[in-house]
Amino acid sequence: MSIIVVGSVGLDSVKTPFGTVKKVLGGSASYFSYAASLFSQVSLIATVGSDFPKKYIKLFNQRNIKLDGLSQAAGKTFSWSGRYGWDMGDPETLSTKLGVFADFCPKLPPQYKKSKHIFLANIDPELQKNILKQIKNRNSKIIGCDTMDFWIENKRKKLLNLLKDIDIFFINESEARQLTQEPNILKAARAILRFGPKKIFIKRGEHGVLLVSGKHLFNAPAYLMESVVDPTGAGDTFAGGVMGYLAVTNNKSINTLRRAAIYGTIMATFAVEGFSLKSLQKATLTKVKKRIKKFKKLVSF
Ligand code: AMP
Repeated sequence: MSIIVVGSVGLDSVKTPFGTVKKVLGGSASYFSYAASLFSQVSLIATVGSDFPKKYIKLFNQRNIKLDGLSQAAGKTFSWSGRYGWDMGDPETLSTKLGVFADFCPKLPPQYKKSKHIFLANIDPELQKNILKQIKNRNSKIIGCDTMDFWIENKRKKLLNLLKDIDIFFINESEARQLTQEPNILKAARAILRFGPKKIFIKRGEHGVLLVSGKHLFNAPAYLMESVVDPTGAGDTFAGGVMGYLAVTNNKSINTLRRAAIYGTIMATFAVEGFSLKSLQKATLTKVKKRIKKFKKLVSF
């Protein structure tokens, strides 16, 4: 069964201490789809402008990604530009141009409606809600959601309204603090759970990931990397790994979620080894499992 994802597909311009790229494939839904499609079919919902290079459509076609929900409109493709410092932590956003996303009002293709796993990747919370409204029997589905400082700042009320309907919320450490005004990360996680989501993954970059669900806590370290070239998309790739693993196991027990966190963590290591989706393209399930074995050795005691 397919995982539905709505989110940005765009052109990124990124500067890190290791290089600069201009107008390369990026966007939350691009990274998510690429990662999740290693586990399960993905049905993408997004829009691109008339300037979107055909070679990137080909890239999606090379994976198990259905594009019935990807429209092309007259105008400019979503674009984001950002810069990372030596700590390769949160980027400084230099510009966000919504382009054709500003007027995007998608209708869910009927064949998408049966999917059990839905991911509302980082994009306007109003658009995320629009997709959610078109999903029937929501109680039988697993709905994941991610967001970003841009939307917390500009659409806070809409985001809080959306969170009531979310099963698994993914958010960065700094964004969790921004959303709750709570500096302690555990207290921030609990405050977010009070907004509605049943479970939360707090992504903490090189400090790993925290999963909180009711009284249950899981604190996974990050995989130690010798080379990080560009952290863009790590969070979306993490979510792709998690949702992909949940879809393929068709289970949402806490132990499955803990394992999903490890799959997400390892998927993200492939994304950060290169710019854009270059290194993620080389990830295979065999390579992922090999890295998970190494990770297990590294953290067991
Ligand atoms: P991540 O590093 O996982 O947080 O995601 C980075 C990706 O998010 C980049 O490829 C950007 O194109 C995309 N992005 C940046 N800002 C936004 C935004 N405001 N809405 C949707 N996607 C965005």
